[in-house]
Amino acid sequence: MSGIEQPKNFGNGWISGALSVTLGAIGVGAVLCFHFPWILTMPELREVYPVPYVRALLHLILVSSFVLGVVSLILRQTKAAGLTGIGLTLLAALMGGSQVPIDGEMTDGPFLGLDWFLLNLIVFSALFVPLEQLFPKRTEQPILRPSWRTDLTYFFVSAVLVQLTTILTLKPAMIFFSWAVNAQIQSWVTSLPYVVQFLGVLLVADLTQYWVHRAFHSVPFLWRFHAVHHSAESMDWLAGARLHIVDIAVTRGISYIPIYLLGFAEAPIFAYIVFVSVQATFIHSNLRFEFGPFRWLTATPQFHHWHHCADPTLVDKNFAVHLPVLDRLFGTYYLPKGVWPTSYGVIGGTESSNGYLRQLLQPFLPEKPDRSTAKE
Ligand SMILES: [Zn+2]
Ligand SMILES: [Zn+2]
Repeated sequence: MSGIEQPKNFGNGWISGALSVTLGAIGVGAVLCFHFPWILTMPELREVYPVPYVRALLHLILVSSFVLGVVSLILRQTKAAGLTGIGLTLLAALMGGSQVPIDGEMTDGPFLGLDWFLLNLIVFSALFVPLEQLFPKRTEQPILRPSWRTDLTYFFVSAVLVQLTTILTLKPAMIFFSWAVNAQIQSWVTSLPYVVQFLGVLLVADLTQYWVHRAFHSVPFLWRFHAVHHSAESMDWLAGARLHIVDIAVTRGISYIPIYLLGFAEAPIFAYIVFVSVQATFIHSNLRFEFGPFRWLTATPQFHHWHHCADPTLVDKNFAVHLPVLDRLFGTYYLPKGVWPTSYGVIGGTESSNGYLRQLLQPFLPEKPDRSTAKE
């Protein structure tokens, strides 16, 4: 195991090694996207990529990965990270590097969103990893904390299956509720300013999500799926990705129904999707911001961390993703000033059966997560 005894602070080659591996892996993924764009990229994104700039960025990523790998080799006794980073860079270069041709016929058929995963990984890690280093709640928690591989797998699978999750979100409303569409209501909603529509989507989505989330906690069969999300014992930006695919499909599918019926315009819905993905990541993050007197206004890490508290009496609190006022309204608000949970996860829960595939199958297995122990 590389570097367990060696220090990880600046100047020891750990940071350069980790960055080299990350950038090298991103480089290999990006080259694969160029080689197989019809199956590994999103059609919506293909049309808007500024390809010369993407190539320049890819070139920069590969050069940086190589240089950082060399730096890590020089600074660090254990060479695994540096060699892996350099190996990935060379692999990407052998496959064509930043000059790789765009291969194949584009189709609108089934695809995997590898490009969507890479973009999400770049944006969210570049935003949250430095913030969590600068303003951590738990200063002792390392970037590569226990179970990071499990949560990165969730992050990867959710992004790569973006076509499937989009269909599962949109189709149920369209198939089962088209009879309830009212043209008058929809034309009134679309006549509203985009800002008002955005706030409307946010309110409607969180209101629906609140009750779906509560149902996931109170109905034992649903809790089997949602327990996976609560099994995380380390909270950071990556922990929020730990969601069972059934949890994602049901929550998003139902939350979209009122948005579909009200007929909001595409732009405010798209803005909301960007907003919710940032806020859902933020509320899980290891960030100490409490928002002072505004803490009741919007969900914060402290607010949602209580929802993940290992104390079973506090798990059924703070269901909202955006608006704590919903929890106040429905009697589930819990936010003691300046106090944070000391541990996370489901008591008698599922962290022991870690790993993506085990957790994917777990809800279907006979023995269920021991919620009774957790509740009493
Ligand atoms: Zn929950
Ligand atoms: Zn959560």
